[in-house]
Amino acid sequence: MPVFDAAIIGGGPAGATAGRLLAEWGHSVVILTAPADTHPALAECLPPSTGKLFRFLGIQDAIDGAGFYRTSGNTVWWGNRRRRVEPYPAGLGYQVPRGDFDGLLLALARSAGARVRFGKAFSVPGAAGPRIEFQTAAQRVPVRARFLLDCSGRAGVIGRGFRVRQRNSRTVALCGVWRQAGGWKLPDISHTLVESYGDGWAWSVPLSPEVRHVAFMVDPGETKMVRGQGPGVRYRAELAKTAAFRRIFSRSALERGPWGRDASLYTARRFCGPGFLLAGDAGACIDPLSSFGVKKAMVSAWAGAVVANTCLRKPAMQETALRYFDERERQVHEEYARQSAAWFRAGSARQGRPFWEHRSEEAGAANGRADAEAARAALEDLRRRPSLRLRRAESVRVVERPGIEGREIVLRAALVAPGVEGVLDFVANVDLPCLVDLAERGSSQVPDLFEAYNRACAPVTLPDFLTALAVLVAKGILIDHSPRDLSPSR
Ligand SMILES: Cc1cc2nc3c(=O)[nH]c(=O)nc-3n(C[C@H](O)[C@H](O)[C@H](O)COP(=O)(O)OP(=O)(O)OC[C@H]3O[C@@H](n4cnc5c(N)ncnc54)[C@H](O)[C@@H]3O)c2cc1C
Repeated sequence: MPVFDAAIIGGGPAGATAGRLLAEWGHSVVILTAPADTHPALAECLPPSTGKLFRFLGIQDAIDGAGFYRTSGNTVWWGNRRRRVEPYPAGLGYQVPRGDFDGLLLALARSAGARVRFGKAFSVPGAAGPRIEFQTAAQRVPVRARFLLDCSGRAGVIGRGFRVRQRNSRTVALCGVWRQAGGWKLPDISHTLVESYGDGWAWSVPLSPEVRHVAFMVDPGETKMVRGQGPGVRYRAELAKTAAFRRIFSRSALERGPWGRDASLYTARRFCGPGFLLAGDAGACIDPLSSFGVKKAMVSAWAGAVVANTCLRKPAMQETALRYFDERERQVHEEYARQSAAWFRAGSARQGRPFWEHRSEEAGAANGRADAEAARAALEDLRRRPSLRLRRAESVRVVERPGIEGREIVLRAALVAPGVEGVLDFVANVDLPCLVDLAERGSSQVPDLFEAYNRACAPVTLPDFLTALAVLVAKGILIDHSPRDLSPSR
């Protein structure tokens, strides 16, 4: 094998995305991936916000052209068992057979110039960092590349060595494919269905009005499963524990399966090092309940491609770029974990079983909620004000922090303040140091400040602008000195 700029292990959503981007940016790329699985790949739901990502990545036409089944929302029996029909607020999602979706992304990477090889990658220990060998039908060869991206998902060819299992999160998905001639009677036939029950939760994604994938997420250590009688009996026993799913699927035919799939949660001690990084599920995986796994993996791959591109083109920036990636992946994972814990708390109503208690625990959830509340209150307050006189709090400092600009990691201004966790650079695409600067220079009307911001920086929408301003006020970065605050009655 020649020496490649980048070798990517895994041709799933993360690997194909990183491979396509790096090839488009002029690097020699090889994607080393296992042939498609022998058991049927699960259908997965990609919510409408994934469409925005496809547009950003320049692949929306190809995805839309593939004719995936579109969905308008979820129908949910969660916690109190009452049915909620939840249409998406805007746009349609995609219900994708993962085999077809992954095949399309891989074809796009190949047409951008990435080479795709099928076989099995192995990590071999090396004093100078991870090294890879690749086994094809014919031979096992060392892989030589200037940068390695592990995108091998749960297998974690390099990632496994850095893995931290999330406590009490052991989960197995028992999966099957169902068919119903003439379709099911549901409020919306395209909806993903979700139901919580005592021992776990059930989930169903349609691929057409007549075919649905159905999975039960259970904890093999805590779920009382019918043992020793084969997967079919276990699968049907879980169905029998549900209320809505049992009713819906009782007269349908189980066409394929069941098969089991590990869905336990984990993160990484470290997401990168000199010459390598872990993108997508190779680094950390989130609860399937979110339906954001694919989107998170593709965003992680985009950030990983930017970091690899920076390391390859500007070796002096390698340390900064890797530090950025490590922090980013950690923060993203924590944010999703908080969200999942909140959903499990809501789902645990009336369940009272260990499966639910353990998944509801998440440190820091209260902080996240308090921050969101404070920002909402500040936004309401801002909307009511005819004018503002804003000043930066004296304790706030401007520092240089790494961030993404185009295809590279660069150093740019960010804000730090005592009592505020981390640094603040962008919120809702709004450049916070620039906004603070303009706010201090004296526009007293919110519309004037909005116009001044859009003249000085990349334009943003008014809602995004207000969100960012509200965050700055809620966190005490900007202090309002408008007359109302100074009146003697306060
Ligand atoms: C039960 C369940 C349901 C889910 N439902 C949803 C959903 O509805 N929506 C959603 O967005 N997400 C869902 N997810 C999450 C989603 O599947 C993952 O987040 C996503 O697949 C991660 O993408 P990836 O590219 O990082 O990894 P993967 O998709 O796992 O891709 C890894 C690739 O690496 C290859 N590979 C592995 N080992 C090797 C090796 N040794 N050599 C070469 N190649 C290798 C694999 O063949 C594969 O092609 C679900 C997950 C589970 C467990």
